Amino acid sequence: MKREYAPELIEQAHKATIFHEKDILASSVCTCFYCGYQFDPHKEEDLEWLDETNPKGRTLVCPMCGIDCIVGDASGFPITDDAFIHACTEAWFGGYSRISEGMPIGKITIIPIEVE
Ligand SMILES: [Zn+2]
Repeated sequence: MKREYAPELIEQAHKATIFHEKDILASSVCTCFYCGYQFDPHKEEDLEWLDETNPKGRTLVCPMCGIDCIVGDASGFPITDDAFIHACTEAWFGGYSRISEGMPIGKITIIPIEVE
């Protein structure tokens, strides 16, 4: 059964991908809305945060793909529902994500480009 999610909910979930340190630390599962990686933030090693000095809280980047598009279950969004995840990737990335392209979860290696 395909469930529909309101555009407002998807918009709100997008806002939960930044400055969400408190939500992430209160969550037992987090989902990356770019690559689909799901993890327990308390078991994952070497979490990388952005916005170190932002008073609203830091922003977690995905341990797998490095994109700052993580939402934790403490945010109240149905982050483990495939239909919700797909609806979000469609809205946020215009369908260009590892999830919507059906690519497996995997580490993305960023190759630094040397400029001479
Ligand atoms: Zn990811």
